[in-house]
Amino acid sequence: MPKYTIHLKEKRDVADGTMAFYFDRPEGLLFKGGQNADYTLLNVPQEKLDAEGATRTFSFANAPSEEGIMIATRMRETAFKNILKELPEGSEMQIDGPYGNMVLHSKPERPAVMLAGGIGITPFRSMAVEAAAQKLPHKIFLFYSNRAPKDAAFLEELKELEGKNVNFKLIATMTDAPDWPGEKGYITKEMIERCVSPLFPILSSVFYLAGPPAMTAAMHKMLNDFGVSDDDIRMEEFAGY
Ligand SMILES: Cc1cc2nc3c(=O)[nH]c(=O)nc-3n(C[C@H](O)[C@H](O)[C@H](O)COP(=O)(O)OP(=O)(O)OC[C@H]3O[C@@H](n4cnc5c(N)ncnc54)[C@H](O)[C@@H]3O)c2cc1C
Repeated sequence: MPKYTIHLKEKRDVADGTMAFYFDRPEGLLFKGGQNADYTLLNVPQEKLDAEGATRTFSFANAPSEEGIMIATRMRETAFKNILKELPEGSEMQIDGPYGNMVLHSKPERPAVMLAGGIGITPFRSMAVEAAAQKLPHKIFLFYSNRAPKDAAFLEELKELEGKNVNFKLIATMTDAPDWPGEKGYITKEMIERCVSPLFPILSSVFYLAGPPAMTAAMHKMLNDFGVSDDDIRMEEFAGY
């Protein structure tokens, strides 16, 4: 893939300990909702980096039809993120991409069931916003699991997206928020059945998973136990969490 130089335009807090970084989009960089790219810090002294080096993979958190590039990440005390957090606006980074097959399937008669754990929401925000912008006919169920609403990046705008796309349904579930009025606990087979089955046979869906490795592994097993074939599962593990 060609490499491009991009410039940091803005940083914003999008949830507790979670930041979004906005860049310009170079001409010629075309991506699909849900894809990812490799981001490299430039001009960083070697001693400030760890063994993982200056490059990390991030999903495009913005939709292709939105301006620029946005990535979002949980801020951890790691070498890469400590540098990223302090980057002055205007700083250059290198981007290599797009990569990945976390893109909405082509047959709209099959619903998309997306299971996001925490910051695993990034590719799904991109896909869901694009589906609304393009008025795609796909029915999309987005299950979004967090400890509490304060940890859930993009929660409000995803709720609002339901009003812009009748085919989009957000099921936000909280594992540690007794006052949360919606779903509580981890995403379960029972929860998916309750939300999807009245409208579609579960096995007609294409499933998308993203989040920390422990979460995606648990969801993958749950789906297989359910009878969902790996052919109908697209999955990305966000290692490092
Ligand atoms: C396709 C894809 C898309 C992603 N999109 C996002 C995104 O949108 N937002 C986001 O926050 N993150 C995303 N990630 C994860 C991201 O690339 C980083 O790994 C993560 O943010 C942690 O980075 P870090 O610099 O804090 O930690 P690191 O310095 O990379 O690592 C932290 C800890 O994890 C361990 N570790 C690192 N890599 C691995 C590995 N492969 N297997 C096991 N242990 C490992 C390290 O040893 C260390 O202990 C994505 C990953 C992939 C593959």
